[in-house]
Amino acid sequence: MNTVVLREIMSATNETSSAPRVLVVEDEPDIAALIAYQLTREGFRVETASTGDQGLAAIDREQPDLLVLDRMLPGLSGDEVLRSLRSEDSTRNLPVLILTARREQEDRIEGLELGADDYLTKPFSPRELVLRVQSILRRSDAPGADAGGRLLRAGRLSVDVTAHEVTLDGEELNLTPTEFRLLQALLERRGRTQSRRQLLERAWDVESEVADRIQTRTVDMHVRRLRSKLGDLGDWVETVRGFGYRLKVPEGVD
Ligand code: CA
Repeated sequence: MNTVVLREIMSATNETSSAPRVLVVEDEPDIAALIAYQLTREGFRVETASTGDQGLAAIDREQPDLLVLDRMLPGLSGDEVLRSLRSEDSTRNLPVLILTARREQEDRIEGLELGADDYLTKPFSPRELVLRVQSILRRSDAPGADAGGRLLRAGRLSVDVTAHEVTLDGEELNLTPTEFRLLQALLERRGRTQSRRQLLERAWDVESEVADRIQTRTVDMHVRRLRSKLGDLGDWVETVRGFGYRLKVPEGVD
């Protein structure tokens, strides 16, 4: 099978066991091979699968550090794979980059609402893909790397930046790495309005070169999901029309 052959090529070219592992689920062999080649060149360990079922089985065997997931797959679709991953505790926070061939805005939004961390529309440049993958991984690593036991608090909400844990009324909230960084950026500058562009640079930790190309709509979608996870505290994340967002903690709350 295509999967096995590619895996052998990749392991022959890259034996570094500490390198991040990326699983690519893509049914078009040329695209899968191109992505695998680029990521391997950048030092990633890459495994490929050509169907959703194979992808889920590969994740079951060994969870990757990041999943590149095509939306349009034969059999189990990319959306179904993503939904399944997000419904399991063990894979809820697995970083996912969605590939979509469809250009409709609605399709992209759906992907993000299902819990993807980012998306790329085909055709994309291999360089772009590498930048996005690196950016997502920086985001998911950054809270842990940011040592010092920092705790951010606002009333019933508490964010442990080191442990990468958010609790509301003592109950842990399950946030994706992106949602975590977004909440952290809002909390660190509470009361101050931040533009979507600023949030992209802070929460997404991307350089301006990339921020230009990630649509600000992406920020809106993640804010929407963060709000819903915050329950009744979701109202604290205020939209500042025509500018961006701010975290407005009510008077009397520490
Ligand atoms: Ca496809």
